[in-house]
Amino acid sequence: MNIDAYFKLKEEVGEQVKIVAVSKKQPDEKIRTLIEAGHPDFGENYVQELVNRQEKFSSYPVNWHFIGHLQSNKVKFIVPFIHLIQSVDSLKLLMIINKEAEKINRVIDCLLQIHIAQEETKFGLNEEETIELLESQEFLSLKNIRITGLMGMASFTSQKEQVRKEFRMLRRFFEQIKKDYFAGKPEFKELSTGMSDDYQIAVEEGSTMIRIGTLIFGARNYQNH
Ligand SMILES: *Cc1c(COP(=O)(O)O)cnc(C)c1O
Repeated sequence: MNIDAYFKLKEEVGEQVKIVAVSKKQPDEKIRTLIEAGHPDFGENYVQELVNRQEKFSSYPVNWHFIGHLQSNKVKFIVPFIHLIQSVDSLKLLMIINKEAEKINRVIDCLLQIHIAQEETKFGLNEEETIELLESQEFLSLKNIRITGLMGMASFTSQKEQVRKEFRMLRRFFEQIKKDYFAGKPEFKELSTGMSDDYQIAVEEGSTMIRIGTLIFGARNYQNH
């Protein structure tokens, strides 16, 4: 745990950029330390781990973000408390979130995850699929979700220019669909890009939300879970 790294990061990126502390596979004590230092936003990738954490820390004012691949049959477990689902990658998933949210009278904020990396393995919609989704009748009828922006993960590479190119492309796409599909909707404002290794480039390329794990908490432990 590196609380100094957290405060340094906070100062470096400034008030305009929200830090989401990615706590997956990190011990509870580290999360508690950061919460008690006044940090509100935490991101998790696994539904079961997130649900356990939310219960454990329910007496604290935490905004939980879901940032991993979300399976349809698990949506109902997070809808009661989730602050923002950052990883929506299909109309089908969006419709299920809407349905579960409707049952409990919530409106859930979501980001569309866009595939910008070279690796095929990463999830996300391409530009064409995103536009198709936004223009579909099904999407227009959803009342219990709200799209507040886009999320993307750059290629895992040391080639900084490649990473910059991908973030820049996403920013351009963000501006385009903001104009074409979210005119008059000020809530569409978030661009969630940047992790421990590439957040500086992301911020230079217009990120409003960075998702930081190892830089704050140290290396993850995949054994003890
Ligand atoms: C794990 C993860 C992060 C954090 O990665 P670090 O390199 O530890 O900062 C950010 N975003 C997503 C989607 C992740 O899965």
